[in-house]
Amino acid sequence: MIKLYNSLTNSKQEFKPISASRVSIYSCGPTVYDRVHVGNLRAFLFPDLLQRVLRYLENIDVDWVMNITDIDDKMMGRFKAAYPEEAPANALGRLADKYTDLFLEDIEKIGIKRGDISHLPRATDYIPQIQSMILTLLKANIAYLSDGSIYFSIAKYEASGQKYGRLVSLNFTPQSRVTQDQDQKEGVADFALWKVRKTDEPYWDFEIEGQNLPGRPGWHIECSAMSREFFGGLFDIHTGGVDLKFPHHENELAQCGGAQANFYLHNEHLSIEQEKMSKSIGNTKFIDDIKDPIAFRYLVLSGHYRSQMDFNLADLASAHERIKNLRVYSDQLMLARVGQLPTQDSASIAQQSHRQFVAALEDDLNTPKALAAISLIEGKVFSEDAKELMRLADDVLGLNLVSDDPLHAKVLELIDNYSQARHDKNFEHSDKLRAKLLADHGLVAADTEIGTLVSRA
Ligand SMILES: [Zn+2]
Repeated sequence: MIKLYNSLTNSKQEFKPISASRVSIYSCGPTVYDRVHVGNLRAFLFPDLLQRVLRYLENIDVDWVMNITDIDDKMMGRFKAAYPEEAPANALGRLADKYTDLFLEDIEKIGIKRGDISHLPRATDYIPQIQSMILTLLKANIAYLSDGSIYFSIAKYEASGQKYGRLVSLNFTPQSRVTQDQDQKEGVADFALWKVRKTDEPYWDFEIEGQNLPGRPGWHIECSAMSREFFGGLFDIHTGGVDLKFPHHENELAQCGGAQANFYLHNEHLSIEQEKMSKSIGNTKFIDDIKDPIAFRYLVLSGHYRSQMDFNLADLASAHERIKNLRVYSDQLMLARVGQLPTQDSASIAQQSHRQFVAALEDDLNTPKALAAISLIEGKVFSEDAKELMRLADDVLGLNLVSDDPLHAKVLELIDNYSQARHDKNFEHSDKLRAKLLADHGLVAADTEIGTLVSRA
C-alpha cells in the first residue's frame, strides 16, 4: 500500500481510501485572471502524478475535482482593464473563459489529460452553496457581519474549543497583515466569507433574515463549498502548493469545523534561477516558452514533490536529452516485432527494476527514485517484461513515451532486408537500406543482440 506525507499530521502515513473502489481528490485550481506560469504548473502536475499512481499502480478509480476560481480579488483587478466596455458580470465571465481555456491547453501540453479530471467547477456556479455555508456559520455564531461583509471569527472558533493553526504554527501579532481582507475585521486573522458589493463589481444578492447583503464570496469559502458539493462530506485527499497551507487551507479547515479530507498534500515551490518566480520580478516563464513541454514534466518529476526545485535552462536541456533517449528505448521495445523480444532477460533486471519503480512511488511518490529504476533497463534490457514496465511507467509518469502505431508490413520487410544484408556482410546494401528507413519512414535502425530494433527519428 502507498504511503503519503500528510500535512495534517506532519508524517508519512499509509493511505487508506474511504471507499475501497474510488479515491476522492480535490485540488485547488487556478485563479483565471492571467496565464499560469511554469511555477504554478508544478502544483497541477503534482495531483496529476498522484491520481495516475493511484489509478495505474494501485488500480483504484479516481474522482478528481479541480476548481476554477473565477471570482476573487485578483479577478477584480483585471476584468475592467481587459473588457472596459462590457458590463461587470460579462467582463468577468469573458476573462474567466479566456484564461480557463488557456489553462486547459497549458496543462494538456504537460501531459495532464482533461478526461482524467472528473469536474472543473467554477465558483460563480456555486453561489447558493457558498451562501448556505456562510449562513450556517452565522447561525453558529462563528461568523459575524460588519459593514455589509461577513467575516469568520478566529477568536469565536477557538472559544468553541477548536484549534486554528493545524497545518502551520501561527503566531499573530496585532501588526500582522495576514490577508487583504483587512477592512472591518474584529481580529487580525479573521477572514472574509462574503465581501460587500463595490461599485462596478459583479455581485449577488444574499438574503439574511429579511436583509439583503449584495456582494461576492471570499476566496476560501469557495473551495469548501465546492468540495462539499461534489463529495458530500469527508473526502480522501486535498492538494495544493505549499503556499496554500496558510491562510487558504487553514481557513478551509476552520470554516468546515475540521478537516474536510483525511490527507492534505502540499507540493513545494519551483523557483527560477534561484529566485521566486513572480510577475513583479519579471522572471516568469510560460509553457509556450519551452520547446518540449514534456521535458518540463520530466524535469519536475526528477525532483521529489516535497523538495524545492529550481528551474533553469541547463536542467531543462538535460531533461530534454533524457526524454529523447527514453523515447528511443521505448520505441525499440514497442516497435519490436512479435516474438522478437524474449519474455525476460537472463539476469531478471527488468523485474528488479519493476519492483524498485513501484516501491519508490509507493513511498510518498518518490519520482527521482522511480526514474532511477527505469535507468537500470534503459538501452540495456530488451525483453517483454521490460516492455511491460515501460508501458506502466508511461501511464504513471505521463511522459508520452509509448507509441502504439504498428509498423506497416512494407516497413517490416525493409527491416528484414536490412538485417539480412548485415548478416550477409553486404554493408554497402545494408547502408542503403538504413538510409532508406530513415529517409522514407523516419526510423533509426539499431543493431542489438536480439537483432535489429528501430526507433522514431
Ligand atoms: Zn482552494
